[in-house]
Amino acid sequence: MTPHADQPPLLRTPVPGPRSRELAARLARVESRDTTCLAPEPPIFWERARGANVWDVDGNRYVDLCGAFGVANVGHAHPRVVEAVQRQAETLLHGMGDVHPAAAKVELLEVLARLFPGGGPARAVLGSSGSDAVEAALKTAALATGRAGVVAFEGGYHGLSLGALGVSARGDFREPFGARVAASTSWARYGDTGAVRRAAAECPAPVGAVIVEPVQGRGGERVPPRGFLTELRALCDAEGWLLVADEVYTGFGRTGARFACDHEGVVPDLLCLAKGLASGMPISACVGRAEVMDAWPASRGEALHTQTFLGHPPGCAAALASLAVLEEEKLAERAAELGDVGLERLRGALADCAAVREVRGLGLMLGVECEGPASAGEAVAQLLRAGVIALPSGDDGRVIGLSPPLTIDRAIFLDALDILVEELR
Ligand code: PMP
Repeated sequence: MTPHADQPPLLRTPVPGPRSRELAARLARVESRDTTCLAPEPPIFWERARGANVWDVDGNRYVDLCGAFGVANVGHAHPRVVEAVQRQAETLLHGMGDVHPAAAKVELLEVLARLFPGGGPARAVLGSSGSDAVEAALKTAALATGRAGVVAFEGGYHGLSLGALGVSARGDFREPFGARVAASTSWARYGDTGAVRRAAAECPAPVGAVIVEPVQGRGGERVPPRGFLTELRALCDAEGWLLVADEVYTGFGRTGARFACDHEGVVPDLLCLAKGLASGMPISACVGRAEVMDAWPASRGEALHTQTFLGHPPGCAAALASLAVLEEEKLAERAAELGDVGLERLRGALADCAAVREVRGLGLMLGVECEGPASAGEAVAQLLRAGVIALPSGDDGRVIGLSPPLTIDRAIFLDALDILVEELR
């Protein structure tokens, strides 16, 4: 495989180009309507990606400042990850997850247990998506405490499967399914432990757990006050609640530490992991302290919680390779350093920009909060036309979210930030 060096944007057609437009028209005929957003402008359709670069079907080259939803932590298609997937796919593409598993599952679980903050013993349940990891955590908490109530946070996002939706704050996502979403959640202001106490007192069901993103991702790159997680840990200990850290977004170096909980040395009871776990394969995990995880009963021959693709071998192999790259290339440290540089650059350049309310973030998880969703959306659209991929975030889309690969070339990263600044000024 040829080594890849990140390159600047290179546009050969207007964005989106004719082939993307044609694919969008075909997609509109066959995909359920509320899935890919095709209007007012169709998206670009990706053909290949490597490092921090993406090429679309029209041959345009982009710099991916969102790491494909904060997934490509070691870069798109890192050669070690690709090779691990290829090797695994050639020998065993699919195993029998909880019945006759692949050896790769054991290896991955051993690594995850070793990485669990605070040391072991720890055990995990694997899944295929971030939502799966959250479902497993919610079920574990219910089993371990016998209490169904959960305190979750305003602005929090944990996925759209029904259990995860039940602890995700977005009213617009919950409302159409209101009758199906569990009514055992109460909501607290993010970053405020007093609000957690009040929410717990009002919860329709006795509280067993608090679920928190150490930095809110889809909610708009919101960083809580320092000490919040420590206080939350102490509150959970005092009340007998389990602390569930949803590090689906923040995990694996994203915020400048292996896990965002590590910034405060907080050990959660349950840790939800996905996205950057395998840097591009759909695999996730709920990892927990063994004494909490052992609330699951001994197997009676049929697993109480599993799925067909549990411990999918190429996913496990990709995760093992990605985790090795993350450690060997010291990518968490790199995210801390480059994130600080990026934050300073944006803050300096946008200090007097009328369209911008705040620039914030931790590590390579940065957000530029605009005056409103329209200005953020327009800036994201303009950025794409300039060859830079970013995503709107925040409850109403007023934040421009940045979560590039942790490997992104420094100069390419800073130049892409300069393009963002130009669009906003
Ligand atoms: N938790 C967090 C913190 C997330 O950011 C996301 C996805 N953005 C999820 C859970 C859900 O993950 P998935 O989309 O893979 O189900």
